[in-house]
Amino acid sequence: MKKMSELMQEKQLLSFELFPPKTDKGMENLPGTIEKLCEFKPEYISCTYGAGGTNVGKNMDVCKMIQDAGTTPVTHFTCIGNTREGIKEQLQNYLDNGVDHMLALRGDLPFGWTGTGGDFKYATDLVAFVRKEFGDKFEIAVAGSPEGHIACRSLESDIAVLKQKQDNGADYIMTQLCWDMEQFKYWLDAIYTAGVTMPVDVGIMPILDQAATINMALSRNACVMPRELCEIISKYWIFPNPFDKEPFDANAAQKKEDFKKAGIEYTIKQIDEYRALGINGIHLYALNKWKDVTDIINMSGIRTLV
Ligand code: FAD
Repeated sequence: MKKMSELMQEKQLLSFELFPPKTDKGMENLPGTIEKLCEFKPEYISCTYGAGGTNVGKNMDVCKMIQDAGTTPVTHFTCIGNTREGIKEQLQNYLDNGVDHMLALRGDLPFGWTGTGGDFKYATDLVAFVRKEFGDKFEIAVAGSPEGHIACRSLESDIAVLKQKQDNGADYIMTQLCWDMEQFKYWLDAIYTAGVTMPVDVGIMPILDQAATINMALSRNACVMPRELCEIISKYWIFPNPFDKEPFDANAAQKKEDFKKAGIEYTIKQIDEYRALGINGIHLYALNKWKDVTDIINMSGIRTLV
């Protein structure tokens, strides 16, 4: 079977990202969601791993659900709390279960932690270790941050790290969300100049909910929000604020609905812009929601436009 990185040289791929649901009910519903997403014949579906230090255990179950639905699972895998031996054991277990695609990450530091608490500090070390221990058994994706990772010394140093990931054996890049298209173009030119030849699979978070959008942009990543996106957020602002569980805003329900509609339109426009740049794949953070994702794919024509 061809590698994702090879397929990406031939066409723009479509993939989704899921996370292990916290509840049993969520786990029960997930196969139905995956089945719906698979109607679009994604080249792969990835599953997050212990983001914020939780839910590591269910990751393998989700990978199996993806396999059962006939699609290639890509497991995210992090350095958080993992020793060399533990990594070897876990990755062998993935291989034994037919999961041979991974996204090698440092990982989000759990609240209050200052380091990974494991044997490796950085994703570069993890990539080198996996190649040394497992040869070519895994296809390895790595994260790229078009705006620079929040903790990087400079954009240049972050790009040098990305090149190091390639030199250590990574196959392709999955990007952090980036709404700032001018920055993305700058970064794309800069990584090519730095000698990065890995295909770029662009991570896109559908804009469906005000609080989730602000949270994703600012709680960890410091993503720039363009004026147009800010205007949508302001226009449908739920008072006193979108994080309030019981807002006093009498129009909250209508605003939520209107925000989602405008957010979907914004997401589609962003997909168009990325596709026009000739990027190698669209990786939609599906947020375990198939209905909204279906609307986005159908309206954007990712799978129907020639
Ligand atoms: P690294 O590449 O290791 O970089 C981390 C920081 O250290 C950067 O600032 C970098 O510039 C710097 N750095 C790297 N190497 C060196 C060095 N040798 N010397 C000095 N500085 C260095 N997190 C999860 O916990 N679970 C998930 O499932 C998950 N899924 C993700 C999916 C995608 C598509 C993306 C883009 C991110 C995901 N994350 C996930 C978040 C990710 O783990 C965080 O962004 C994390 O903070 C950095 O991971 P990284 O692999 O980019 O780290």
